[in-house]
Amino acid sequence: MVTHNIEHLPIRNLESAVILIVDDQPINLDILGSHLQDKYKIFKVNSGQLALEFCHKHMPDLIIMDVQMPDMDGLTACKIIKSSSELKSIPVLFATSLSSGSDQTACWEAGASDFIVKPITPETLINRVKAHLSFKFQTDLLKELAFLDGLTGLYNRRFFDDYIHQQVGLANRNQKSLSILLLDLDFFKGYNDHYGHLKGDDCLKVIAKAVRKTIKRPTDLVARFGGEEFICVLPGANLKGAKLVADKILKAVNELKLSHPNSPHKICTLSIGISMMGGECETACELIESADKHLYTAKQKGRNCVVFE
Ligand code: GH3
Ligand code: MG
Ligand code: MG
Repeated sequence: MVTHNIEHLPIRNLESAVILIVDDQPINLDILGSHLQDKYKIFKVNSGQLALEFCHKHMPDLIIMDVQMPDMDGLTACKIIKSSSELKSIPVLFATSLSSGSDQTACWEAGASDFIVKPITPETLINRVKAHLSFKFQTDLLKELAFLDGLTGLYNRRFFDDYIHQQVGLANRNQKSLSILLLDLDFFKGYNDHYGHLKGDDCLKVIAKAVRKTIKRPTDLVARFGGEEFICVLPGANLKGAKLVADKILKAVNELKLSHPNSPHKICTLSIGISMMGGECETACELIESADKHLYTAKQKGRNCVVFE
């Protein structure tokens, strides 16, 4: 039986880690920083509020945080981080002089990954940080393997399935628009027949990159839906907005001018079917079926075009 050892996979180098230290006392920031700054990239802020702002901008790999601070204390900041879908994967280590059982319970309950008692023992600090960073990087890699498509680097079908159900739920609850685009490369069998499957793979990668570059909003998602099919989820977009994005994608792919002798267009093109929530599309399945129907029409109409009704 073939087995795969995670140690052989490309886990991020520990030296590339970004660590945020949060403490209202400059002396504590200096002491903690002095033990770690030769090994990692260290940033320091002096309040919970500033820590949150830093996290949203720079996504550190680990946070070492004081508990008691004026302004926003460490427990509150940690709870906010752990309730944010974007930030919750950042481990928080409390550095605290509070040592009673109930103080420590409060740290765990706020979502701490660990804590270090002040005055700190440098060896323990260094080894705890190393252990948590290693664990974080392994988890990140496993998430990447689980949710990204190995060839194109786009999100995979598994991630898309979760995301579309989540976004359909949100759109229904908040009465917001939601559109999807289903993309399918034109005459791609002919491309493989002419250039071979490996060149076909390269072509898929280049087109995936061009599609991803046209998708701008933070909640927009591009995934590989199947072999030579991609799917875009556009929360908040109505048909008009979705059509604009689809036209941009079509243009971007045409501008690549990837030679395709087996296509009547002579370059690689794709066809796009659009659907929007509402009317007969109430569920994720209905949305995909409707986009698929429109994609079929786009193929019938000669390909390299967008259809939305
Ligand atoms: P149409 O314009 O109607 O979409 O024609 P088509 O040839 O693209 O459609 P068809 O469904 O007949 O063929 C899809 C082709 O896509 C067949 C398959 O070899 C190719 N394909 C699917 N996945 C991959 C992949 O991962 N790599 C490569 N190189 N080719 C792939
Ligand atoms: Mg296809
Ligand atoms: Mg195709």
